[in-house]
Amino acid sequence: MKQIRRKTRKIKVGNLYIGGDAPISVQSMCTTKTEDASATITQIQRLTGAGCQIARVTVPSEAAAKALPEIRKAIQIPLVADIHFNYKMALMAVDSGVDKIRINPGNIGSKARVKEVLKACQSAGIPIRIGINTGSLEKDILQHFGYPTAEAMVLSARRHLDICEEHGFENVILALKSSNVKLMIEANRLFSQRYDYPLHLGVTEAGPTRSGTIKSAIGIGTLLAEGIGDTIRVSLTDDPEEELKVGFEILKNLGLASGGVNLISCPTCGRLEVDLFKIVREIELKVSGIKKDLTVAVMGCAVNGPGEAAEADIGIACGKGGALFYIHGKKSTKVKESEIVPRLLEAIDNYKPKEKKGE
Ligand code: SF4
Repeated sequence: MKQIRRKTRKIKVGNLYIGGDAPISVQSMCTTKTEDASATITQIQRLTGAGCQIARVTVPSEAAAKALPEIRKAIQIPLVADIHFNYKMALMAVDSGVDKIRINPGNIGSKARVKEVLKACQSAGIPIRIGINTGSLEKDILQHFGYPTAEAMVLSARRHLDICEEHGFENVILALKSSNVKLMIEANRLFSQRYDYPLHLGVTEAGPTRSGTIKSAIGIGTLLAEGIGDTIRVSLTDDPEEELKVGFEILKNLGLASGGVNLISCPTCGRLEVDLFKIVREIELKVSGIKKDLTVAVMGCAVNGPGEAAEADIGIACGKGGALFYIHGKKSTKVKESEIVPRLLEAIDNYKPKEKKGE
């Protein structure tokens, strides 16, 4: 079934767009101290190599804000400055040439300060991202609803949007995040029914890699499958590179990202006669950077393996001490167990997509 993507405004962020018909981008956030420009640049370059399309850095101090021009100059992807309350940091960030700032207008303080920040963004032609978190909802909203709800989150978003719209500023991206996956899903659904601002999706404080990956896949994946969401960030208590891998995996499995190996492998059972765990671990590691668009199936035995292996672009069905290869559904060669990984990588390297009939 073809996914129908919700129509949103298209917002320019540096050299890419968020929303409208723009591809869904994957972003991450640096874990370095922003004032250490050299470490931050090194991390952003590493993340760019891993596919990161937008990098965010925190700007909690003047020292961090002062490092932004050097960082901006050295990197190739859009840079986002994450500001909490200090409007001066926001103004310094805009001046330094960042491509977007993450700030909630209702948290800046006086009307004059809000006006100054929005005017600066307007003149620089950069958007802001408003971030609603269940952990930082306004006291009166919490009192009214009793506890964080989707409606409470959308009301909070509405307040910040009102401030922007009063100043004629609509260059805005919204995020409604929670560590509660169901709440995050409901809030984004509700927001998307009412407004057409692009949505940045994420399950906040998702946790360590295993549980964080599951929470993110459910939260972000459910919404994307419904056509909601324009950019994503997976937050894990892990290296940001891991966040990117999970983000791309979510997009890939929903058919929203092209490029990359879709690795299928069986759960194994008593029929297994090779060390499939080792084989799959090695293959997963080695194919993670490959941009070719293909499905590889690694199956444990000759009983149920051949069917799945023949369905994939490249497949192997293992047997006692080795494996039978399938390329484009056809039996190819038999290799010894020790040769499975190198021969599979070679097959991926040489792989050419099947020509479609009539082409
Ligand atoms: S493919 Fe074979 S080894 Fe793997 S789970 Fe199925 S039956 Fe078991």
